[in-house]
Amino acid sequence: MSENPSTLMSQSRLHIELAERWGARNYAPLAVVLTRGEGVWVWDVDGTRYLDCLAAYSAVNQGHCHPRIVEALKLQAGRITLTSRAFHNDRMGPFLQQLCELMGYAKALPMNTGAEGVETAIKTTRKWGYTVKGVPEDAAEIIVAEGNFHGRTTTIVSFSTDSQARAGFGPFTPGFKVIPYGELAALEEAIGPNTVGFLVEPIQGEGGVVMPPDGYLAGAAELCRQHRVLLIADEVQTGLGRTGKLLACQWEDVRPDVLILGKALGGGMFPVSAVLADEEILGVFEPGDHGSTFGGNPLAAAVGMAALSVLVDEGLVENAAELGPWLMDQFRASGSPHVEQVRGRGLMIGVVIKESSGPAKPFCKALAKRGILAKETHAQVIRFAPPLVVTREILESVLPDIQAVLRGEGVDLG
Ligand SMILES: *Cc1c(COP(=O)(O)O)cnc(C)c1O
Repeated sequence: MSENPSTLMSQSRLHIELAERWGARNYAPLAVVLTRGEGVWVWDVDGTRYLDCLAAYSAVNQGHCHPRIVEALKLQAGRITLTSRAFHNDRMGPFLQQLCELMGYAKALPMNTGAEGVETAIKTTRKWGYTVKGVPEDAAEIIVAEGNFHGRTTTIVSFSTDSQARAGFGPFTPGFKVIPYGELAALEEAIGPNTVGFLVEPIQGEGGVVMPPDGYLAGAAELCRQHRVLLIADEVQTGLGRTGKLLACQWEDVRPDVLILGKALGGGMFPVSAVLADEEILGVFEPGDHGSTFGGNPLAAAVGMAALSVLVDEGLVENAAELGPWLMDQFRASGSPHVEQVRGRGLMIGVVIKESSGPAKPFCKALAKRGILAKETHAQVIRFAPPLVVTREILESVLPDIQAVLRGEGVDLG
């Protein structure tokens, strides 16, 4: 390939070199340079089309450049974009109303990134612990699960169990207790008099699409209720239709005390996150306690409203519920000697590659060569999470390619 001058001079090469020359090396992307997106499709700078099976870690549930969201963004961009919270704006109120009514909460606090949503949830839970539950000053404890991913801030990596996420970034924030994921007995044992919250992902996305046993969330909710501990659900990735319900917690009829949303709340267009809870919990914030220059800005609010409307009006939650189980069956039917397990819920699917077949990355590279973009999450898992606007016809058109790769065709098995 390297003898071919047109390959050497390709647009992709050029952009990769620029990124590597000028960018910090905190990512290791596949060698694809994207320039355009529409629905489930993306195109690279050399004109090749791909099916996006990552959807920016579920931030693009509504599909790339959804016309209604683009329209909302353009309209608002020409009107007013940022006012800061020093003044009111006429988009935030309607956005928070729509969000709270859809999710069934009394109040919401808007932020930008998912990590900021998690930080906000930690702060509200701690302050609730001191002012409502009566925990002694600076003694509040929050329980978290092994294998968690809640973002990249210094406090959040303090309770990560991924050694690379922490290495070199200490000293860490105290006040967190880590327990095994999916074990109710461990949760019960960990709860003490100063426990204020249990922060958990309904399915661990970055952890490798790890599903807890049935009844885990409902059991955790019950334990939290008994011990007056807040159940904090991080639905930044699982929320907004990804798993075939509006919230993954709804699979077990659980209503978390504190709900964190992000990613798809911005319709793949703009960072929008929020923490939702009732008055007793979010009411602990007084003016000046917490904030964000961009949080609740009119552009984000306009985009957030359009993102939620598209999700509801286009039946994207139902589409994920219908296509997910079917797609998992198709993956299982590939007859691959390399696949250990296919797991997930809705269109959040993990295909686990056997360790004897090597890591998942070469499978992702082979998929990219066939026009399917997926990314491994942890060494052995290929995550398939296309935009929720995907159709059965589109998936059927790429299934032979996916199944061939799962069987190892064109995969550099080392
Ligand atoms: C992506 C993610 C976050 C962090 O969101 P950012 O917008 O990247 O800060 C937090 N929690 C979960 C479960 C996520 O998947």
